[in-house]
Amino acid sequence: MSVSLGIPTVRGAGQGQGAARPVAERRKSRQIMVGGVPVGGDAPISVQSMTTTLTADVNSTLQQIAELNAAGCQIVRVACPSQDDADALPAIARKSPIPVIADIHFQPKYVFAAIDAGCAAVRVNPGNIKKFDDKVGEIARAAKDAGVPIRIGVNAGSLDKRLLEKYGKATPEALVESALWECSLFEEHDFRDIKISVKHNDPVVMIEAYRQLAAQCDYPLHLGVTEAGPAFQGTIKSAVAFGALLSQGIGDTIRVSLSAPPVEEVKVGNQILESLGLRERGLEIVSCPSCGRAQVDVYTLAEEVTAGLKDFPVPLRVAVMGCVVNGPGEAREADLGVASGNGKGQIFVKGEVIKTVPESQIVETLIEEAMRIAEEMGVEIDEDGAADGPGVQVTVK
Ligand code: SF4
Repeated sequence: MSVSLGIPTVRGAGQGQGAARPVAERRKSRQIMVGGVPVGGDAPISVQSMTTTLTADVNSTLQQIAELNAAGCQIVRVACPSQDDADALPAIARKSPIPVIADIHFQPKYVFAAIDAGCAAVRVNPGNIKKFDDKVGEIARAAKDAGVPIRIGVNAGSLDKRLLEKYGKATPEALVESALWECSLFEEHDFRDIKISVKHNDPVVMIEAYRQLAAQCDYPLHLGVTEAGPAFQGTIKSAVAFGALLSQGIGDTIRVSLSAPPVEEVKVGNQILESLGLRERGLEIVSCPSCGRAQVDVYTLAEEVTAGLKDFPVPLRVAVMGCVVNGPGEAREADLGVASGNGKGQIFVKGEVIKTVPESQIVETLIEEAMRIAEEMGVEIDEDGAADGPGVQVTVK
């Protein structure tokens, strides 16, 4: 049975001259609600992140959540390692513009505090919660009464000791067994409002763990490469691992873990989904890497166009090409493009050459044409170059 990928069906600009195809048929998973965000089933794959502020510092945490929300984060997780943090949860849950998940390690009492606080979900790490198994019945009852789902978040670095002894290390089988064992404890209490993660810092192990997990249950899956590293390495590890899984239809929500500000995690997560056609693309710059044939400074041109169209209000594919070898072909395929040569730029709109301008006018011409496309799509742009609409700020530089 085919399952919708939850990709927006309304197509405008941004698809270039070709239609996007789903990367894979989505694994059929049960759907849960994390606050107002559906996860699993045919819901669009959501992007999550985690705050780095002290949760007890309510204002700083809400400020960071606002920044994450503006960057496209749909669900946010906050750590809750102390009573002060637990005490802050009600205010954070109430004022956050996106659903808040409390991340609980070590102390079952904070699970109950998070549920009482109105958090949209609670993440528990069975390997890190003392006497967790004994508490499952109570947790299941409280969560069920409040309609709060639980994420069972198994982590290679804190695998249950019993499974470490059995498998010797955090193998895919060990991660999966840990997760499914904890699920079974909840299932005994007729609680299935669950999503699962089985994170490992090695994408190869992580991919295999999620594959096995996907085959053995229908719970929605939260993808993550744990401790993926600094921005460059972590981005690549996450893109490779998520790409491998999402291209098999596995994964319902994602969190990129970077040793970098969490807003960067959100940008990477959204870009991964856009790259796989699992989310409507925003601004997509198709720029060539440049080579000995380039007749303009492609790097600068691409950067200036990207900066000029930052926060552009409609999806748009813009080709910035350095010469006439591949330039016209790529520019023709995009919504808007330039093929440069001999100090000039041939400007393409929807596959047609509309004008040729001097190199010095390429950037402003592309931005003007982008504005025109937006206006044709019904987005009003005022005299200052700012488009009307929520959160939209487009400025001609
Ligand atoms: S478009 Fe031209 S300049 Fe750019 S990489 Fe290709 S051949 Fe080189």
